[in-house]
Amino acid sequence: MLTAERLKEFALNEVRVDKIGIANIERFAQAPPDMHPLNIMPNARSVVVFIKRIVRGTYRGIDEGTHWPSYSIFGYAHLNRMLGSSAYKIARFIERFGYEATGLSGAAASREIGVRGPRPAPGKPAREVVLHHRIAATLAGLGEIGWSKVFLTEEFGPRQRIGVVLTEAELEPDPIRTGHLCDRCKRCAKECPAGAISTERSVGIEVEGHRIEWGDLDLGKCKLTHFGLNKRSSPFFAKRFPGLSLPVSEQEVTWREAWDLGYALFPTMPAFQSLAAHPIAICGARGCIQGCMKHLEKRGKVKNRFRTRPVFSEAEPWCLPETPAHTFAEHHGFIYDPEVDEVEDVESQAGSSWY
Ligand code: SF4
Ligand code: SF4
Repeated sequence: MLTAERLKEFALNEVRVDKIGIANIERFAQAPPDMHPLNIMPNARSVVVFIKRIVRGTYRGIDEGTHWPSYSIFGYAHLNRMLGSSAYKIARFIERFGYEATGLSGAAASREIGVRGPRPAPGKPAREVVLHHRIAATLAGLGEIGWSKVFLTEEFGPRQRIGVVLTEAELEPDPIRTGHLCDRCKRCAKECPAGAISTERSVGIEVEGHRIEWGDLDLGKCKLTHFGLNKRSSPFFAKRFPGLSLPVSEQEVTWREAWDLGYALFPTMPAFQSLAAHPIAICGARGCIQGCMKHLEKRGKVKNRFRTRPVFSEAEPWCLPETPAHTFAEHHGFIYDPEVDEVEDVESQAGSSWY
């Protein structure tokens, strides 16, 4: 017989997820049609949510200002793929007991991809119906959404990615727990290089007496920065377009516009191009994850502890100048030429045979 306990045991010990919880379908009663699980699986009874931790060291290179790929690959794209295979194994396990189950994509943004065509099924919302993963994780009792809109757990603070399995199996739900991690310090907003997180305005819902609320997030500004088009946090953009002034905090763009611009510029920046097989995360989540992680670690709120550096970093994050360092007259419309050597003063290169 399939029970919540048996499923969790399998997911934790065999699939090696880091934490798992269950929400019953009733907790989604107020969800809008294009986020409602029953519009994907009409007989669904449970929403199973699990997390896999983002390894803390993947943020180190960006914090040091020296190495970007670790986070983009191992903290982001590859980890998301691992969630997919975990969801598949969990769904397959449930199916052994005769219940339908499926993993769900977290690409909520896929709603914006393409103009909506006619509704395939009369009376149903148009594609794509996508669950709000962070709300689902909250309703499954795994943790809470912080002011940053990032999901927080007591095990890893803001360091995890979320996977969801929808099933027709009726499983014992976990209690919802909110209000025990985020103290509204707003460090996430202060250290966000895009100024994307409002310090004042919030968005929220209520479920079973729990207020689930987060700071209003400007997705366009976040996405421009996430894609490395913010000179404050992306040396790649500053290098390729030295004369361009693009203060991200002043831009008014949609998530989709920012996405298109990011992809249009990939081929022009070799450092990005090498990562383009993965959705890149050049920002390194410097405010919403790194800033929050430091704050929660300082308060002793994260169970996953580290011996040598209990708090990830005590230093203020580095920040590059937003305005161009020089004028057009000085850089003469510089065109990036990959054949020309870097002219930076890298002492370690002198006389080294490692090259
Ligand atoms: S930094 Fe973390 S704890 Fe502080 S307000 Fe932001 S989400 Fe909450
Ligand atoms: S990913 Fe970067 S730009 Fe987006 S909210 Fe987090 S810190 Fe700000």
